[in-house]
Amino acid sequence: MKKAARSELFRELPAVDELVHAPDLAALSASYGAAAVTDAARAVLERLRQEIASGLLDEAALKLALGGLSRAIEEQLRQALQPSLRPVINATGVILHTNLGRAPLAESALERIRETAAVYSNLEFDVAAGARGKRDVHVERLLCRLLNDDNATSDVSTIVVNNNAAAVLLALNTLAEGGEVIVSRGELVEIGGSFRIPDVMAKSGATLREVGTTNRTRVSDYERAINERTRLLLRVHRSNFEITGFTEQASAAELVELARRRSIPLMEDLGSGALVDLQNFGISGEPSVLDSLRAGVDVVTYSGDKLLGGPQAGLISGRPGLVARMRSNSLFRALRVDKLTYATLEGTLLAYVRRDHNAIPALRMMGLTKDDIGKRAEKVATQAKSAKLQAAVIDGESVIGGGAAPSSVLPTRLLVLSCGDLSADELARRLRACDPPIVARVEDGRVLLDLRTVFEEQDSLVVTALKEIAS
Ligand SMILES: *Cc1c(COP(=O)(O)O)cnc(C)c1O
Repeated sequence: MKKAARSELFRELPAVDELVHAPDLAALSASYGAAAVTDAARAVLERLRQEIASGLLDEAALKLALGGLSRAIEEQLRQALQPSLRPVINATGVILHTNLGRAPLAESALERIRETAAVYSNLEFDVAAGARGKRDVHVERLLCRLLNDDNATSDVSTIVVNNNAAAVLLALNTLAEGGEVIVSRGELVEIGGSFRIPDVMAKSGATLREVGTTNRTRVSDYERAINERTRLLLRVHRSNFEITGFTEQASAAELVELARRRSIPLMEDLGSGALVDLQNFGISGEPSVLDSLRAGVDVVTYSGDKLLGGPQAGLISGRPGLVARMRSNSLFRALRVDKLTYATLEGTLLAYVRRDHNAIPALRMMGLTKDDIGKRAEKVATQAKSAKLQAAVIDGESVIGGGAAPSSVLPTRLLVLSCGDLSADELARRLRACDPPIVARVEDGRVLLDLRTVFEEQDSLVVTALKEIAS
């Protein structure tokens, strides 16, 4: 009896063809295309079929559902065609937030994509010679200028791979496969999502030789570990933590001296790889790429999307002979980057060559003063405040993130928000439910917005979102 009733219900469902040719779906077909509308209609009908089969729909409920069919199909289309990767407003004050895409790209970098990616380009073509060229040339030229410009460093070559993890893998495999690499125990760090030196070392085919202790490693510890299998001395920047107190770390100069004396190359995994002096931003103790090369480090690896402020990439800069060996390693072919990366990296590096550091969003955000940010925060607070929404502005700190300058913070002004009797977590959830989502900080049961990482043109979106939440 029940079964018969269900089969009756199934018969009420229209055929897909019939449905998509109905007048109220014609408009949808015109804007989304007939194929997408057919797919969506099929998905909606299938959902109804399942609901009937599992007894969730009786005759009355089905009638209601059929009445709203075209709206359901439109909603299905909207969801299916909405991109998954979309903008969010970063109000955390963490400039290089790995979960939020690290460095936002410079306008000039995007311009390079628009110009070169939708058409053919000379990615690997030497136009003058009419012959095959090398993709490296597009950024190597600029890095040569940026890293050789004071003659304090000798010749420096650079190659680009997919990210800094790949750069470390390629460098270790090329320089130390089958041999030993000496690293301080204090530098065996795990960075962000699962980058661990011991694991990368194992994959590279080199053997890790740990020396010293977590808090103290002297240059003599390195020297004692050197044997006939030693291929490389490795220094790893302690990107996301700091060891304080009773500590000792061999200096770059000491390691350079040791490496030269024993004829073993010295590599430094810098991680962040600043191309400008961060002292200008009030950040000390974060060595730049140039600092390391000047000190005599043979090979430096660093990310494209951390302090450099460009696309995801791993850069390897160093002595031309060593870099050439990495370039001819077959792993390089597997780890190389595409034209989009070259285009955006070149666009970013051109801003450095022009000394236009403000064009690079991550650097511009680092340079914002507490006053700049405070003024904007006051304005947002004034515009968003209501009987229900309280907003105050207090002193606070922004961090660089992305494994850079773990102990350096930038003074900022924070918006402290509360809304009716919403808990801080609930208010933060509602901010994330906005379009675009706003990602805030929740600290000590308070919702905090740091406008340092919010683009100024997004301030009005924040105001609108806050008004909506309080309405
Ligand atoms: C971030 C970081 C890495 C990993 O770089 P990715 O570009 O994320 O692959 C490796 N080493 C250090 C020291 C880092 O800071």
